[in-house]
Amino acid sequence: MLFYFFSVIITMYYYRVGETSMEPKKQILLLTTGGTIASAPNGDGLAPRRSDIMAHDLQRLREYYEITVEDIMCLDSSNIRPEEWQQMARVIFDRYPSYDGIVVSHGTDTMAYTASALTFMLPNIPIPVVFTGSQVPLTQALSDGPDNLRTAFAMAACGHGGVFVAFDRKVMRGCRAVKVRASGFSAFESINARYAGRVTGRGLELDARMLPDCTGAPALRDALSKDVFLLKLTPGLSPDIFYALAQMGYKGIVLEAFGLGGVNVLGQGLSGIQKAVELGISVVITTQCLYDSADLRVYQVGNQLLELGVIQGRDMTSEAAMTKLMWALGQGMDQQQIAQLFSQSLAGEITLN
Ligand code: ASP
Repeated sequence: MLFYFFSVIITMYYYRVGETSMEPKKQILLLTTGGTIASAPNGDGLAPRRSDIMAHDLQRLREYYEITVEDIMCLDSSNIRPEEWQQMARVIFDRYPSYDGIVVSHGTDTMAYTASALTFMLPNIPIPVVFTGSQVPLTQALSDGPDNLRTAFAMAACGHGGVFVAFDRKVMRGCRAVKVRASGFSAFESINARYAGRVTGRGLELDARMLPDCTGAPALRDALSKDVFLLKLTPGLSPDIFYALAQMGYKGIVLEAFGLGGVNVLGQGLSGIQKAVELGISVVITTQCLYDSADLRVYQVGNQLLELGVIQGRDMTSEAAMTKLMWALGQGMDQQQIAQLFSQSLAGEITLN
């Protein structure tokens, strides 16, 4: 009990913004990419604008931080593709030596994909790279944007490297974040991992256990493959889908299976997966349940799959599994190397035991 008490004490600590006026302001770069946070009505719905629309909200933050703003794209995040992830990763890698932290404003719809992808593309990034956005545009009186920006800037100034998502006063690892609400303010959850930080009455309360180890050499590893398909299993799904995906040239499939990793094996159920694996496609099995882990060793149907050579995605989010596979294929890894890679945690994206 006593041990538990002390372990909690040493793992939680607080970061307060502007605690002493003697401290020089932290240099924070804001990269804007669009999204609701910077949107305004356009006649046919909300459309993103450039950063001038954020000027009023940034003014207040300038009391605490030295802020540089760079508009790198102006997109609804539904339109953000792997090419844009590469553009963001390159800009971040180029600029990071000049800043204490980087905030990336981004649409919420695909933020979890971008944050996961950049986690793998920017190993050991030594400064915080913090994604944020909002459900209601900054231009509206009751926007959640100002609050999200405050949390993101506090995280960006905290001095701990890694890629994070800050939203609704919570900070999570980029590779664990999932958008769970289409319009509610608590839009993101950290799946199967504690929050890296929370805003409390004491400031930004950080959990040291959830801060990535970024002590290795920082690198830009931005090659990605787009030949990865995310497939949700449904009862009675035809195995032909796997043949079709192979024919279309896919090199990787993330299969969201049932519960602990169940897959329909009756009839021709497994034949499609078997063919895909034989053709050299890496098939990663995750669960379509949001929480907990796929474990193929529990049921007979799962063990049959393991014998075919599928890869366990365990408790990874589909976004993390998908982007890790895109990244691994982009790095030129073969089926065996990819299986090996998925048995390792690169940035806390998977729980191994
Ligand atoms: N459609 C918007 C986007 O992802 C939604 C948002 O930002 O909340 O760009």
